Amino acid sequence: MTMQEKIVSLSAHSFFDRESSRESKVVSLSRANQYDTCGSAANTDLGAIYRAENGQKGCLLFKTLYTNQCSFDCKYCINARKEKKSSYTPPELAKTFMGLYRRNLVDGLFLSSGIPRDPEIIMEKMIETLEIVRSRYRFGGYIHMKVLPGASYDSIKRASGLAQRLSINLEAPSKDRLSCLSGTKDYRIDILRRQRWLSGMNLSHGHTTQFVVGAGDESDLEILNMLDFEHKNFGIQRGYFSAFSPCRGTALEGREKTEKLREVRLYNTDFLLRKYNFNIREIKEILGEDGNLSREDPKVLVARNYFVKPVDVNSASYDELLHVPGIGEVSAKRIVERRKRGLIKRRRELKEMGVVLRRADAFVKVNGWSQRGVCEYV
Ligand code: SF4
Repeated sequence: MTMQEKIVSLSAHSFFDRESSRESKVVSLSRANQYDTCGSAANTDLGAIYRAENGQKGCLLFKTLYTNQCSFDCKYCINARKEKKSSYTPPELAKTFMGLYRRNLVDGLFLSSGIPRDPEIIMEKMIETLEIVRSRYRFGGYIHMKVLPGASYDSIKRASGLAQRLSINLEAPSKDRLSCLSGTKDYRIDILRRQRWLSGMNLSHGHTTQFVVGAGDESDLEILNMLDFEHKNFGIQRGYFSAFSPCRGTALEGREKTEKLREVRLYNTDFLLRKYNFNIREIKEILGEDGNLSREDPKVLVARNYFVKPVDVNSASYDELLHVPGIGEVSAKRIVERRKRGLIKRRRELKEMGVVLRRADAFVKVNGWSQRGVCEYV
């Protein structure tokens, strides 16, 4: 039985203690959370459970809104200006989550919310939920909580003592771009100022942000520049990208859907900047005239500029190895370690160290021999 089949079956039977109102809340509040999807997400039909990249292998999170009522006006969001509410109470949500956790359906919680009026009121409810989960149920696992735009320093600080990760969504790469999508959020005060506060707090899994990609005519260059700024100034752990998809009944329902590949290429690029220490200048060199990434793998495109000829795996620096497509952090470290015991003489050894030869071959030389020249092969 798949995870979503389990949820559907359990919610249709005894799982929700036959409290039909709570069952429908789980479905509607989880579905309403669709713009908080993360790149590593594999949302179920219910939108309730997704796989998180949080340092714990295979961590499944129960992802939900506290309420779907919202007075904000984000043009892409099905909850914008939503009057008819569906909302948990803190004890209800804590009990629902712990029910899933105890049945081994989820490992952690990802809590976000609409903002009916004052963000502080809902922040308080979300914090109360976490307090119940932590103290009454003694849950010690992973919790990611969204900070609501405009939340106070004190409530963010309290949340930082209960969750491993906090995040606040930028949604767009600049004040001007956001103002085309929402007239109620102040980019600098409601979001950037809160990110600065977050950067000074002690969170074991750091803080993150998210962009809705393609909702506001922004280019990839604008997103990547902002992301670079965020890494350097606020120490964000990572960015998430959510390809825009129009929802019926929203102001942007007629807008074209953003191709998923654009989201994937942004993830690839962010990974190169964040994990492999690529320079933003290298990325800018591979953008098209419109400032967008191409459909091709960004690591291959950067490598074509970076290497004029294949690099010798026996003398390449760690950074050079990381620039080779098909060589990642693990295989680069293995190569460096292996070289301490003598020269690498066969391509087969690279394969054994985890190198993907069909991607790396064009860029590397082993024992003085290379498959083909970089230009010829790629
Ligand atoms: S703040 Fe914006 S994105 Fe978030 S729930 Fe409200 S309308 Fe939707």
